[in-house]
Amino acid sequence: MRFSEFGLSTLKEVPADAEIVSHKLMLRAGLIRRLASGLFTWMPLGLRVLRKVEAVVREEMNRAGALELLMPAVQPAELWQESGRWDKYGPLLLRMSDRHNRDYCFGPTHEEVITDIARKELRSYKQLPINYYQIQTKFRDEIRPRFGVMRSREFIMKDAYSFDLDQAGLEESYARMHTAYTAIFERLGLKFRVVDADSGEIGGSRSQEFHVLADSGEDAIAYSDEDNYASNIETASTSPDGINTPAPSAELKKLATPGIKTIEALCDSLNVRALNTLKTLIVDGTDGPVALALRGDHELNTVKAQKIPGVASPLTMASPESIVKAAGCGPGFVGPVGLEIPVFFDHATLTMSDFVCGGNEKDMHYTGVNFGRDVEMPETVDIRNVLAGDPTPGGEGTLSIARGIEVGHIFQLGSKYSQAMDATVQNPDGKNQVMAMGCYGIGVTRIVGAAIEQNHDDAGIIWPQPLAPFDVVLVPINMHRSDVVKEAAETLYSELKEQGFDVLLDDRDARPGVKFADAELIGIPHRLVISERSLAAGELEYRHRNDSESQNLKREEALKLL
Ligand code: ATP
Ligand code: MG
Repeated sequence: MRFSEFGLSTLKEVPADAEIVSHKLMLRAGLIRRLASGLFTWMPLGLRVLRKVEAVVREEMNRAGALELLMPAVQPAELWQESGRWDKYGPLLLRMSDRHNRDYCFGPTHEEVITDIARKELRSYKQLPINYYQIQTKFRDEIRPRFGVMRSREFIMKDAYSFDLDQAGLEESYARMHTAYTAIFERLGLKFRVVDADSGEIGGSRSQEFHVLADSGEDAIAYSDEDNYASNIETASTSPDGINTPAPSAELKKLATPGIKTIEALCDSLNVRALNTLKTLIVDGTDGPVALALRGDHELNTVKAQKIPGVASPLTMASPESIVKAAGCGPGFVGPVGLEIPVFFDHATLTMSDFVCGGNEKDMHYTGVNFGRDVEMPETVDIRNVLAGDPTPGGEGTLSIARGIEVGHIFQLGSKYSQAMDATVQNPDGKNQVMAMGCYGIGVTRIVGAAIEQNHDDAGIIWPQPLAPFDVVLVPINMHRSDVVKEAAETLYSELKEQGFDVLLDDRDARPGVKFADAELIGIPHRLVISERSLAAGELEYRHRNDSESQNLKREEALKLL
């Protein structure tokens, strides 16, 4: 490609609404342009990168035996009513109606459509296992679209759906996708981790996420190299074993603490540490309000809490009126002493003795509180976010926390959709059997942003080779004034193209500095500079995007190196 014909437009200025580096660089390098909130155009340069991601994904999916198809983006409401998700999916679902007033949605995912296909196409166990996939546009009306293509409203996903006769088959299909995903992210040259995950909205049992590691990642992941434990913080747990509750040494006292409603203020005013305070939150239960109690220095984990039997899901804070009714005071002064609603204590609260908690009376707190004396020794539950340094659930390792960008997600759905939508096949006994399903997503557009988050410097993007829009950029110096340079550049350009390289020839009549800056911003891995001086010595000046210095190489050597 010739720069002069490619219509590239790079920007010096960083658009104001771009918060993270990948979003800034994608706009500056001219990979994408914003149309409206969460909607982006992939410009020619960006599309080259996107197509490379798609190609790797497609090759590995095909290699794993999956079959590509293409489903409509617009889906009839009836299917979603059948699965029960029309009412459950909420405002993320973009709903619309046609001229006949029939309801539709723009697909945020395709479980319903594929299950409908499967129940019509698959008759016998002999047709199984089968795995259908597509690379297709989704729409989710995200509450906060941000970070450019990483959390957009319209995005491209590779979604795959496996159908098996039973759970054992599903586990094999799932393992095959695990292998394929690992191959995909390895081939793309990304540093990633596979973590246990919550199955959330989609439902089902086992699920794992693939995360590209980057400081700007929206997710926190907990992992341990000692025993290979890795989990999204949403579901990460720690071992409750070996916690000892020290014996009481202080008396229970009630203390006036006017206006002190936060753990921070409490610590300041009583000169205690947060880990000696107990915070008690009242939330909706399945049968009236319930309380959740955590150590003051710990954070509530909503995903884990809402799975506790008796706690309402999704987790909802109780209304001020119901808090007053349950505890006799407003939030900020609630504590477990004498509280008459069920209290779920986090495991780690058992490390506490002589602690401070709310007095269940306005402007009052208790001090010197002890389990087994002032509060019944509780059965504890797991409702807090794990922290770095916590033991792993198996107890063999120690957790570290890193940030990640979720680029892939694999689920064992089981019979959730096939049951609801009656997707059955004949089993070997001639009986109808509900199929076991798996679903497997990759955020194709998100990968491009994630790759930049992981690979950039002050000058711009540093593409991992497999994603680069061009392999090589040729920068002729003074091409428009030197026939020798022009001829050498044109010859090299044709030769490299013939050898199968994606080559960008910067044939603009611009200063070398401008060309170098653009090549670095765009992130092309290999750069060859052609000047009269180097040509006279039979050389080219080579530099890898990762190098800080150029090197002069004989023409043949340079070609060999490429
Ligand atoms: P997230 O937790 O980031 O909202 P999700 O768990 O809802 O994602 P899935 O339903 O698992 O997403 O979708 C499969 C993949 O699609 C995700 O792993 C992610 O890479 C990608 N994806 C999901 N939502 C978006 C979005 N708003 N913009 C870009 N990619 C997305
Ligand atoms: Mg997910």
